[in-house]
Amino acid sequence: MHELSIADSILDSVRQEAQKHPGAHVTKVGVRIGALSGVEPEALSFGFSALVKGSDLEPLALEIEAVPRRQRCPACDITFTVTEDNLACPRCANGETLLAGGEELDLAYLEVED
Ligand SMILES: [Zn+2]
Repeated sequence: MHELSIADSILDSVRQEAQKHPGAHVTKVGVRIGALSGVEPEALSFGFSALVKGSDLEPLALEIEAVPRRQRCPACDITFTVTEDNLACPRCANGETLLAGGEELDLAYLEVED
């Protein structure tokens, strides 16, 4: 399962960060997942919970921020959020826009408690 290995690498990052804050406990981790990343948020959430349960990191919450696909119009030089797979520029209706985001798979933040 793809999402399980992603959940595992998130936990690796959390452990690395936790080492920089001795005595503190990481309570929450936020990740940003792009619409084009191929990651299913629910599956990731499920895999994450399964890995955290019974581990040294428990309790640890996962917050997933879903990032929509974005395109850039080279004619108007604007970037816009894609809704309903419509890639045309909302300003000039140019259909030849460029991918500008939505493939993110980033660790956004950690909440740490002393
Ligand atoms: Zn345009």
